[in-house]
Amino acid sequence: TVVVLGSVNMDLVTTTAHRPAPGETVLGSGFATVPGGKGANQAIAAARSGADVRFLGAVGDDAFGATLRATLDGAGIDTTLLRTVPGPSGVATIVVDGDGENSIIVVAGANGRMTDLTEAELATIAAADILLCQLEIPLETVTAAAHHAGSAGTLVALNPSPVQPLPARLWADVDLAIVNSLEYEQFSSTLGPVAHVVRTLGADGAVYRGGDTELVAGGRRVDVVDTTGAGDAFTGALVATWSQGAAAALNWANAAGALATTQLGASASIPGREQIAAAL
Ligand code: ADP
Repeated sequence: TVVVLGSVNMDLVTTTAHRPAPGETVLGSGFATVPGGKGANQAIAAARSGADVRFLGAVGDDAFGATLRATLDGAGIDTTLLRTVPGPSGVATIVVDGDGENSIIVVAGANGRMTDLTEAELATIAAADILLCQLEIPLETVTAAAHHAGSAGTLVALNPSPVQPLPARLWADVDLAIVNSLEYEQFSSTLGPVAHVVRTLGADGAVYRGGDTELVAGGRRVDVVDTTGAGDAFTGALVATWSQGAAAALNWANAAGALATTQLGASASIPGREQIAAAL
């Protein structure tokens, strides 16, 4: 089992020719609500790659919360322990202008309420093969979960995104780090002791380093439509196939990430098993 402990948001995407200045009102050209959050996106990616996935996190008691839960359920993810807490679900308000530039405001909402772990959540982490975390829920909770997993023999995978300073004791429990170029630069001084490091290179693919082993998955030629969510698709696909060995997982994830760029949106563009297998 892959246990994903992380965020789940509703993305509120508004498109407009130009963004309003302070005090100005403009007419937008479109609006959509799209399930998102790095935790949810990576969980969906892992499930579409064929993994047995359980999600730990929280939604609000608003309408978005019900929709987000149904979205995870619909992806075949076990949401038995997904909490519903009083107040709003996490939301990301996204404005995309005519130049394709975006402005984003993320409100943590229910994600910010994950300040501790229940006995049931801890037991689920201990029973898992892999724990996968990102940094969109409180850092103390990620640190505690990683430590619990480490002592139970559960492999700890961390995608340290969005970038923020991390305590050394968190790194001490990480077995597999999945970083993009920005995160790699930020954490280069602390990644040394991590047993397995996978670095994504956008259009240039990804590289793996583990002990003396280095593996390269070259960039795949695709017709890029939207790179949003490519990293999440890559990460979920990687942990889903990690038990098959680093080389197989790296190639699988690299294909998943590339395919995710060929369609619009984050969660909607995450490829499934057949699609990835066909591309390979
Ligand atoms: P992030 O989206 O987190 O910044 P990257 O840009 O490194 O991460 O992309 C993650 C993965 O998605 C890459 O390792 C690669 O497999 C795939 N990918 C991203 N952009 C492209 C692209 N333009 N062409 C082919 N594959 C891509």
